[in-house]
Amino acid sequence: MITVFSTDHELHRGLLEASGDNYKASPECPERATNVIAALQDAGLGEMRGPAAFDVRKITRVHTQEYVDFLQNAWAHWQQAGMQASNARAQTFVCPGLRDQVPRSILGRLGRYAFDDSAPMVAGSWQAIRRSADIALTGADIVQSTRRNAFALCRPPGHHASREMAGGYCYLNNAAIAAQAMIDAGMDRIAVLDVDYHHGNGTQSIFYERNDVLTVSLHADPADEYPYFLGYSDEQGTGKGHGFNVNYPLPLGTMWNEYRKTLDDALGFVRRFSPPAVVVALGLDTFAGDPTTRFGIETGDYLEMGRRIRSLGIPVLTVLEGGYAVDAIGRNAVAFLRGVDGL
Ligand SMILES: [Zn+2]
Repeated sequence: MITVFSTDHELHRGLLEASGDNYKASPECPERATNVIAALQDAGLGEMRGPAAFDVRKITRVHTQEYVDFLQNAWAHWQQAGMQASNARAQTFVCPGLRDQVPRSILGRLGRYAFDDSAPMVAGSWQAIRRSADIALTGADIVQSTRRNAFALCRPPGHHASREMAGGYCYLNNAAIAAQAMIDAGMDRIAVLDVDYHHGNGTQSIFYERNDVLTVSLHADPADEYPYFLGYSDEQGTGKGHGFNVNYPLPLGTMWNEYRKTLDDALGFVRRFSPPAVVVALGLDTFAGDPTTRFGIETGDYLEMGRRIRSLGIPVLTVLEGGYAVDAIGRNAVAFLRGVDGL
């Protein structure tokens, strides 16, 4: 297992999110990634390397150029507009019934390119966001060229980001960018298996009309949980993509025993699709001790989860998504990766 990591994620810090009548520190904090890398080093889990720098065209295969330009310049425009707040965030979002327009105001553009207010921009955000995508692309390169497993230790995460909308702590969809890069480099099909607690709405929407990328997601039922407006079981893809999107909404309180059966069913879809590699969007917020969620997966279960994915018998690119039990995220990641690597 080769892990790809950069300390540039630390530039994306000081994020705030609404909490009751106030703002509080976002659970999507630098300690998440710092603790994962420390746990990997303690466990002696394989080789570490920094990301290569990729052309932006790898990113615009999945996102629009306008959206990427917006993300790159949002903080400068926020400052040029004389805004004082440390977090650039929208107050008004484009919704059905409103006109889909890119306003001149940075406040307006923040709302055009986001679907919620949980993905603010701070001074160092863009560099961290861009490096996170480079990490995923480097992981894709490793899997492609060596047919070995790789771990893209991405932060910020990506699976909620759609073609041109940020949200849910996500800006660029790292897993989707990696999957597209693997297709462009010659793999005829790729499966993306999303095991984050939350539905990977961005990944689903990006590939919804495609039959060369199978998207499969296990997640808390969106009738009860974020992101609420996507992730239901009747969303199966459209056009030639029909049948290539599979959602498993699970009840709040799901424990490993039920999760395991659902995972085995999901892995059946991947097997029948028969891709040369799989991208796993690894959210560790299914953990029983996660302060923000309501599933009951334990540390030892992640080892078994990794083993079951290993049983596909194809190279695995694991891309880090959520996970907010900061003290446990490192050991949970180690357990999963050990399972994937058969250790
Ligand atoms: Zn999540």
